[in-house]
Amino acid sequence: MPAIILNGTEIRKEILAEIRQEVEAIKAAHGVVPGLVTILVGSNPASLSYVSLKVKTAHSLGFKEIQDNQPEDISEAALLGLLDQYRRDETIHGILVQLPLPPHIDEKLVLNAIDPDKDVDGFHPVNVGRLVIGGSEVKFPPCTPAGIQEMIRRSGVETRGAEVVVVGRSNIVGKPIANMLLQKGSGANATVTVVHTATRNLAAHCQRADILIVAAGVPGLVKPEWIKPGACVIDVGVNRVGETVSPTTGKTVAILRGDVDFEEASKIAGFITPVPGGVGPMTIAMLMRNTLNSLKFKLQI
Ligand code: NAD
Repeated sequence: MPAIILNGTEIRKEILAEIRQEVEAIKAAHGVVPGLVTILVGSNPASLSYVSLKVKTAHSLGFKEIQDNQPEDISEAALLGLLDQYRRDETIHGILVQLPLPPHIDEKLVLNAIDPDKDVDGFHPVNVGRLVIGGSEVKFPPCTPAGIQEMIRRSGVETRGAEVVVVGRSNIVGKPIANMLLQKGSGANATVTVVHTATRNLAAHCQRADILIVAAGVPGLVKPEWIKPGACVIDVGVNRVGETVSPTTGKTVAILRGDVDFEEASKIAGFITPVPGGVGPMTIAMLMRNTLNSLKFKLQI
């Protein structure tokens, strides 16, 4: 039987509808809405397009959204001052700094200056620590791993006691998703193995995975014969493998592939995410959810 496809675009729609409803209810009861600020330094076209998607999504949910565009030559001190201003702003619950920053600014210094209680990306060391401790300590799980966990949860695949293998140990995907799935609680409680470039016999590890999460950034790394029949395969990889002309717009667009051979793998797996249209669309939904949760923490509801 072919695998059930986990459609991230559809799941995102469901989650955004849930958030919209909650925003309306909180507004009616408390007279406040979630506030998100996105700081963009310079005018990198890719960054502009990411930021405008975040702004559009936040607006569509009834959030207060500020797109704060700053010139390319803003000083590091001025940027830090801006972060302090938003830390004190009661109407702002989430602060994002769009990366990359220009070379004269120390990226790490800036990211670490974001108020951890408004760090809706979840990358501040305080939030990484909270994630590792788990339970009620967790405030802002990073968005891509949170999207992966949500997809698994909504698929109905059992995580308790499941063998999970995560391919990749990055700070933005591999390490946090491994940490999240080994915690106690629903959508977790798994036995987790993390494999990486120094792992011997990658195939053998993957072959025993009930849930295989691949975030390596290597197209076609996971071979179909590495997949356990019936497994849930979450392909996080987004790899540009060429270009084509879109038949609808006539524009040149990238051809994207995941880290798993989707066609062949979907004949063996029980559940699988496509690329594009799998994990990718979930990230922004989780960002919106973290921002809503930030307001809820403040209101203690
Ligand atoms: P990264 O390069 O920081 O980390 C990749 C990890 O994979 C490393 O830990 C490395 O050890 C491991 N790896 C690489 N080649 C390997 C190999 N041959 N065998 C075993 N392990 C290997 O990448 P990242 O930031 O974690 O992203 C991974 C992929 O996920 C990329 O394709 C990226 O574009 C994609 N991604 C997608 C989203 C999204 O859809 N929202 C978000 C983040 C990342």
